[in-house]
Amino acid sequence: MIRFMLTTGILFSIPFFLKAQNKSTTLPAQLDYHLSWDGKSPILKVSLEYSPATKDSTVFIYGDLNFGGQKEIFKVLQNIDTKDKVKLTPLERKITVYHTGAGLKKITYTINGQLVGDPKRATVDELFRPLITPDILYLVPQFFMINPVGHSAVTASVQWDSFPAGLPYFISTAAGTNPSLKQSIPVNKEQDVLILMGAGLVINTYKVHGIPYYSITSKRDTINNIKAELEPFFAHYFPGLRDFWKDDQAPYYYISILPLLSIDKPWATGYSQKHGFVMRYSGKFDDNKKRVLAHETSHSWIGNNMQIGNDEFDNQWFGEGFNDYVMLINLVKSGIQDKTAFLDYVNKDNLLAHYSSSVKNAPNDSIAAKFWVDKNYQTLPYKRGFIYAFYFDNQIRLASGGKLSIRDFLLTLFKRNQQIHAANPTGNLTLDDYIAAAAKFIPEKQVRDEIETNMIQGKTLDFKTIKLIDGFKIDYRDSIPVLEISETTNIKEIYTR
Ligand SMILES: [Zn+2]
Repeated sequence: MIRFMLTTGILFSIPFFLKAQNKSTTLPAQLDYHLSWDGKSPILKVSLEYSPATKDSTVFIYGDLNFGGQKEIFKVLQNIDTKDKVKLTPLERKITVYHTGAGLKKITYTINGQLVGDPKRATVDELFRPLITPDILYLVPQFFMINPVGHSAVTASVQWDSFPAGLPYFISTAAGTNPSLKQSIPVNKEQDVLILMGAGLVINTYKVHGIPYYSITSKRDTINNIKAELEPFFAHYFPGLRDFWKDDQAPYYYISILPLLSIDKPWATGYSQKHGFVMRYSGKFDDNKKRVLAHETSHSWIGNNMQIGNDEFDNQWFGEGFNDYVMLINLVKSGIQDKTAFLDYVNKDNLLAHYSSSVKNAPNDSIAAKFWVDKNYQTLPYKRGFIYAFYFDNQIRLASGGKLSIRDFLLTLFKRNQQIHAANPTGNLTLDDYIAAAAKFIPEKQVRDEIETNMIQGKTLDFKTIKLIDGFKIDYRDSIPVLEISETTNIKEIYTR
């Protein structure tokens, strides 16, 4: 998913990396990675024992340019050594090994996890490169695995041969385990596994509806009591999200929330792995950062699990905007954000930002081309979809006399999504699925017209002609709609129903 924080940072998209697989040798397919770290230096030593991909040679590719745009990533890989003949092609991030004999092979190298330290690139360099300091070793398998092209192994083993004793350790596939235990990692999951070790780490375990949840934070943060800040997420927000979706299907979930080392100004950045969220931040853990954490973890449903159309750019108003609305009402439900914070986010971050934007009427299909070059376009689908979701929730509540809400619509759509996944695990919802589900709550023609006019063509909603639920009122100040909520209206109660 493409993830952008509106005000304090950038969140990144991780494309799926496909691996070619074919048969090549008679040895059983084997990829065994052995790791060593002395606990002080920024160097990870790696030794790979492998069955050859083909009789004569094995070609390895290191790194993935789509993973955080690390153009220089090949330089991280150093001191390559093997008994066989080696040819390096740095431009293609390629290592070719010409075998001099039969049998299992071995190649050793080091991974340099030194902090780059460029404040301008902190957000990408501290997420998408290995980071190894005496305090924290941060790895995803992508950083130390070299990928043999055409190799038939579907899993790789990872084993620590030497490491400092007694350090906190986290590997997402087997939380709570000791580094000395060998782990098996599917080779297509090398961007979806998190490995952390270091004296500065604090690992906490929680249960959310019986599902193990973990937080990994750092003692380096001396401004925030980060454990206390996260407590309400585990006690209320995460269980609340699972209640919202009536979904307790997950093996585990983790959030890694570690300080940025190269910048001081308040910032937040991160990316989602399949079963977790990896976040880096600096400054106070304020409402904004709480919304980043809440938005990203909420993507487990809208975004990661449910997508309308096969390209995530097609209907980002839903993937980002509706997710953002679900995030906000669940933050209110969990008591993490109150009426003031709610109004602030609706009015400043959404209504004001959108209605005063120079691109507010840009058609949906013009966004993709400008997304990475124009910040106005980057944030457009979030605000457009959020405002529409807010409007749509109000209409369902009004039409049902307060009995139903956007949640009932989203649960209908989620059920449809599960049917699609049962038939095809990589299948996606269509706009017609959306309209069919919405038509159970609001007349189909109205839904169809609004999606076409407001989401696809880009016309803004005219709140002068729109009715909202009791206690909610939108007035215009100049040309900007402003939401007011009456004193006696309890929004926590509204969003708990
Ligand atoms: Zn998002």
